[in-house]
Amino acid sequence: MSALNRVRRQPSIQALPARWRPVYVKAGSEPDGIAPVCSDPDHEEVDGGVYDCCGELVIEVPDPHLAEYLAALLTADRGEGR
Ligand SMILES: [Zn+2]
Repeated sequence: MSALNRVRRQPSIQALPARWRPVYVKAGSEPDGIAPVCSDPDHEEVDGGVYDCCGELVIEVPDPHLAEYLAALLTADRGEGR
């Protein structure tokens, strides 16, 4: 079993959110982090901001391209990719 498959099967990983998005942690023009898609109905999905409604699971990613990639990768692996 690959290391990725082993980690994927852990209950703590299974419990992670299924959908992720690139976010703007600081007020920049490019994404500098990733976070789960916010479940607040007033927080539109196209809004990449991080607010009080978004929860604490925000990961800073200094490279905007890596942020986009990681969000897409996690969503594919946790969500639609299954
Ligand atoms: Zn939110």
